[in-house]
Amino acid sequence: MAAPLAGSQQAFAREFYLTAPPETMPKLKARLMANENPYGISPKAREALVKAVDLSNRYAWMEFGELANRIGEQEGVARKHILFSPGSSDILMAAAAYYTQNGDPSKPRTILTCRPTYDDLLERSEAFGAKIEAVPLTPQYEYDLDAMKARIGPNTKMVYIVNPNNPTGTIVNPQKLEAFVREVAPKVPVFLDEAYIDFLAPAERPNTGKLVAEGLNVIVARTFSKIHAFAGLRLGYGLAQPDTLKALRQYTNNNFGVSITTLMAGIAAYEDREWQTYCRTENAKVRDYTTKALKGMGYEVIPSFANFLLFPIRMKPKTFENQMWANGIGIQTREFGGQPWCRVSIGTQAEMEAFLAEFKKVVG
Ligand code: PMP
Repeated sequence: MAAPLAGSQQAFAREFYLTAPPETMPKLKARLMANENPYGISPKAREALVKAVDLSNRYAWMEFGELANRIGEQEGVARKHILFSPGSSDILMAAAAYYTQNGDPSKPRTILTCRPTYDDLLERSEAFGAKIEAVPLTPQYEYDLDAMKARIGPNTKMVYIVNPNNPTGTIVNPQKLEAFVREVAPKVPVFLDEAYIDFLAPAERPNTGKLVAEGLNVIVARTFSKIHAFAGLRLGYGLAQPDTLKALRQYTNNNFGVSITTLMAGIAAYEDREWQTYCRTENAKVRDYTTKALKGMGYEVIPSFANFLLFPIRMKPKTFENQMWANGIGIQTREFGGQPWCRVSIGTQAEMEAFLAEFKKVVG
């Protein structure tokens, strides 16, 4: 029943980690394939993590309220609108399960989105028997909200929007997105995957907390993996209506999936604005540097608002990818619009210099 996972990040990870014998795992100079934060967790989060080791015998639930209060204050929502999870993937998976499984299973179910985008939720939905209806991105590689609106029908169970989008790094205009949600959410739930939202300037960010507070049927997925560098610690959360969260909770590992060490570090990381600003500023600086360098080599880079870049390459994607990995640079390749693309995460300045040096060697 499960649909094949060809071409996706999941397939990539699975193919790589399951099929590569451990002795052939490359020693990478730069890990630029998973949009991780190269600067590490905030020093304050590290301190909290070390202290919390002594609480390792405890479940985390006593501490959820504290982080929920701080997020609630920041987003303008009550605690009942927040559900924690081990990374935002868990919220994505729960939504895929719920919106494809609840109600009458004999009725056709469609998840509406734009592609290329982040495929995890879509592939899981497909595996549960739903159909994916994907509208192409605009010529500027942005989500095409007008075209999506026109495709909403009686079988549409959920609309999925990734903003900023992965793999393009593009955003949708915040006012346009808010208007879209206000129009669509009364009919169909809108899922907003905001994994990369913290890299945006305030004027570029939609006020999704406000949409939740207004009572709209919107599910916002956030992660600590990116700006807070918690990819290995695993912390994320969903913002939605309490009845939606109650339904999603049936499909998650509930709050037991988050460890107390992660949560205590999460509270410190969320408070450490200085570290977040540092990561955001460095990312933008190094992203500009890398964009300019690639453009200088004649590559058309899609202007990115996130911590990665996407640009078209002129080699067979697998050959290019294998050569880059063999040279110690982990990147990803994609194919869409009839051509191959390289997606490279923004590492440190030194990592990007190493990437550019190997890139020049590989492309000749
Ligand atoms: N959404 C998007 C768009 C992503 O790119 C990712 C991971 N790269 C995730 C969700 C899931 O991340 P996590 O589970 O670490 O929060």
